Amino acid sequence: MTQSPPEDPLSLGQKLVAVLEGGRRTSTYKLATILALLDLAVESVPEHPDDAVDIDLDALSERVLAMYWRQIRPIEGVQIRQSSDGRSAILAIVETLRTSTGIRERVGSPAGAEAADPNGYREAVEAIKVTLVRYPLQLLQRVNNAEYECFLYNDSWMNTTSLRIIENDHGNAIRLLPGVANALARLAPLLRPAFQLAWITDVRRMNAWLQEDGPDLAAHLFGSDRISLTRVRDVLREGFGSRCFYCDRTISDVPQVDHVLPWSRVPIDGLANLVLACRRCNGDKSDLLPIPDHHHRAMARGQATLDELASSINWPSQYRRAESAARGIYATTPAGTPMWCAAKNVRLSSRADFAW
Ligand SMILES: [Zn+2]
Repeated sequence: MTQSPPEDPLSLGQKLVAVLEGGRRTSTYKLATILALLDLAVESVPEHPDDAVDIDLDALSERVLAMYWRQIRPIEGVQIRQSSDGRSAILAIVETLRTSTGIRERVGSPAGAEAADPNGYREAVEAIKVTLVRYPLQLLQRVNNAEYECFLYNDSWMNTTSLRIIENDHGNAIRLLPGVANALARLAPLLRPAFQLAWITDVRRMNAWLQEDGPDLAAHLFGSDRISLTRVRDVLREGFGSRCFYCDRTISDVPQVDHVLPWSRVPIDGLANLVLACRRCNGDKSDLLPIPDHHHRAMARGQATLDELASSINWPSQYRRAESAARGIYATTPAGTPMWCAAKNVRLSSRADFAW
């Protein structure tokens, strides 16, 4: 194992794609891990692009938990396999948590599980953390038994299942090598859809009964939860009125719930990232990155107000997460990127947009 100096995002991305393409995956753990790492990299962009960044392993485990939490719900009455042999330690941990918190049959959320059973949630996060360290994190940078170099983080200590070693000896974190967090954040918009597609392909292979023309697997695995979002509509209306957040017109039909920072860029479902929008604005904005002003206005609704409204419906607010994600996204978006201002109004970003 060797370590190389900071490298440009492109070659880092190529290496990452190469290791994930190499060898047939027997489970979806590596994909879950790298997708969680991408999200956390976006939210942890350092001030200086070449800085090393610590990624907290509890945060990483919670992101992975949240992904499988969604995916564990049955599709056409069947729970999909996430490994070739149908066994999965992480799935079993998530399943146990859903059962112990009594929200197994409902959609629920990990935040709901944490509120209902804090100890059970803690135990689940720790069990997932041990599994992540021992398997996907330790194996992520290598293909089969080939020689390899650490290009993301040092993995030489990871042959352990001891919480004490992970938490005390290694600070409960992995340290992304200099420049890696910034590079991952810049690559995230390109890599996320590629790895999601790989995940969908893996799940099809692991679940032969799923036909090509069958259920919408992409929506099941990665879509935001439209059904749950209807729960936040009333509370947004109650808190901020029923005008469109973007064009300020009164919404005559049913208001749409819009993710200010697009769901395809960062999966943040917390109330801080949600607004009511008219059909026209919502449809026109689609997955485009909005101008920073929209994000700032959403934040200006106030953390205390958003937290309170969110907790009144047992929903996460994710104020700080939305804020750090926005900072990371705008800091790593190149000038000249199309950004959504208003319906039928898209402009190219300039350097001034990224001064934070
Ligand atoms: Zn509108």
